[in-house]
Order: sequence, then C-alpha cells, then structure tokens
Amino acid sequence: MEKLARKQVQELTPYLSARRIGGSGDVWLNANESPFNNEYSLTFDRLNRYSECQPEALINAYAAYAGVKPEQTLTSRGADEGIELLIRAFCEPGEDAILYCPPTYGMYAISAETIGVERKTVPLTADWQLDLDGIQANLDNVKLVYVCSPNNPTGNLVKREDIISLLEMTKDRAIVVMDEAYIDFCLEASAVDLLEKYENLAILRTLSKAFALAGLRCGFTLANESLINVLLKVIAPYPVPIPVTDIAVQALSESGLARAKEQVATLNANRAYLKQELSQLNGVTVFDGWGNYLLVKFPDGDALFKAAWDSGIILRNSPIEDCVRISIGNQEECEKTAAFIRGQLA
Ligand SMILES: *Cc1c(COP(=O)(O)O)cnc(C)c1O
Repeated sequence: MEKLARKQVQELTPYLSARRIGGSGDVWLNANESPFNNEYSLTFDRLNRYSECQPEALINAYAAYAGVKPEQTLTSRGADEGIELLIRAFCEPGEDAILYCPPTYGMYAISAETIGVERKTVPLTADWQLDLDGIQANLDNVKLVYVCSPNNPTGNLVKREDIISLLEMTKDRAIVVMDEAYIDFCLEASAVDLLEKYENLAILRTLSKAFALAGLRCGFTLANESLINVLLKVIAPYPVPIPVTDIAVQALSESGLARAKEQVATLNANRAYLKQELSQLNGVTVFDGWGNYLLVKFPDGDALFKAAWDSGIILRNSPIEDCVRISIGNQEECEKTAAFIRGQLA
C-alpha cells in the first residue's frame, strides 16, 4: 500500500508526539498538558443533527475572551488544524514556501511536507530571537512565516518590536502566523492588538494548554475578516463536533474563565518553584520560560531523560543539546521531579 501513497507521503516521517513515544509511569510531564481535569456536563439531544460549521456561541465566547470581533475568529480541530488550513489556503504546492525558525514546534514542517509545500528555515539567534536579516534574505516564494511565542520548546517570548518589524517586512507579500498556543500563561505578551494595524497577521490559539482541554481538540485562528473568509473556503463543512462546542462554551463561560485563570496562576507558581529548585543544582541551567513548561540544560541531558523515564517520570527530550523540556504539573509532580533530579545529580 505504501507504494500507492503520494511520493510526498511515502517520504514523510510523521510527527513524533509525546503520545506516540509512549512510556510508562505516574508522572507525565512530556506533552505540556494541564494536570487539572475539569468537569463538564453533556447533553445528547442534538446528536442526530450536523453541527454548525462555525458554532455561533463558541465563536462569540472566544472572540470576547480574545478581545476581537466574531468575524475575526475561526474555530478548528485544535490549533494544529489551523496550521494546516493556512497552508492549504495560501500555498500552491510545488511553488510556494513556508518559513519557520527552529528550534520550534514540529507541525509547521510536517503540514507543509504533507501538502507538498517547500519549507525554508532560518534558525533563531543564539538567544532564541528572530534573525530578521536572515528572514528577509529568504522570503522568495514565502507565503507564510510561522513564529511561535512563547516558543516551544525553548519557552521564551519573541520580542514585540521584532514581530512588528517582521509584519512590516512581509506586508503585501506574506502572512505572519503567530502561534500563541501558550499565550494564556502570559496574556499581556499577545500580538492580538496588532490585528488592527496588520492585515497580514494571523494568530493561532488553543484550548489544549491553559484551558486543560487537550483531548477536546479545539483551537482558533484570529485574523482580519478577509483572511478568515479565505480559510472558511477550505475548512471542512462540520469541523467542530457538537459535544466539543458544548464543552468549549462551558470552558469559556464566566466561571470557566475564572477557573482557567486560577489554574494558570497555580501553574505559573509551580513553574517558579521548579525553576528555583533546579537552578540551585550544579551544572544545571533553567531557561526563562513563559508557557507551562521549562527547558532545562543538564550536564548530560540524554542520561537524565532516560533515568527519569526508567523511574516513571516521563519528560520530553529536545533537539537542543543536553536540554530536556519539562511540563509544569501539579505541586506533587513538580516536587517529585525536582527531588528525582536532585538525586540524579548528587
Ligand atoms: C500544543 C501546540 C499546538 C497544538 O495545539 P492543539 O490545539 O492541541 O492542536 C500548536 N502549537 C504549539 C506551539 C503547541 O505547543
């Protein structure tokens, strides 16, 4: 069957998600999931009917949360579907390209490769900021520039003045896609206010991280109406199942938002605790992180990752030498992880 698949697909290595890598243990800090599992109510009275393409209640609730107009909001099956919709809508296979800045999230590359769209990379600078000159020199045929902030896996924020420079540089030529999957942990750093000034800005959001709904598969693209209308041309007719909408609307209700805010504050405090604990250890560097994870450099990152794995503490290894990404769990998980690492390095 492999031979019948498109050549692009034959050559494709699928995204190695934390879930696919597996592992066994009782501390799961490898997928930037929330440790909180909140309760929702479900009704089953409309399941014989198709869902709305863009459920009004959900669009209105998220638009209000994000501070944009409903017409500037599109919902999809996770932010991952948003990444792909943008490529399908704006890039001609075999002609156009996307550009992204590694080390960063892996799905930009995989979506482009699947669709047959060229990938250009301009690595982040030594302090994980944008290499604006490098980007400028590589913009030929580029329709989409993906920028992740807070960046996964490094955790840092991309400088606002650089985002503005990039938007100016690409005006009338390419779309800057800000991946804000983790922005709810530092909302003041969002680029959402720039939508007013820049037609070529798109912002990806998700309920998977701060809203503790990774299993729900609900994400959003924020952009000006004309851009959203292009995406609406290529999205599936019924992308959001009715139970997903019902749960997402509860998560975005007044009480849902208050709970999410509290949980974000708790996770940010846990992150500060973990950073403080690990920073004291000899040979360990903990990078500043703004999402629900920290990138940590060890004397031997692979050894630490494997030792933790064998002890049932599942972390995420990273492409950055000797660095391990640790999701922020509940207090007990953070304490257990800190104690384990302390023991390893003693
Ligand atoms: C988790 C993540 C996503 C995907 O979010 P979903 O809504 O679960 O598809 C997108 N971008 C980044 C940077 C992520 O870490």
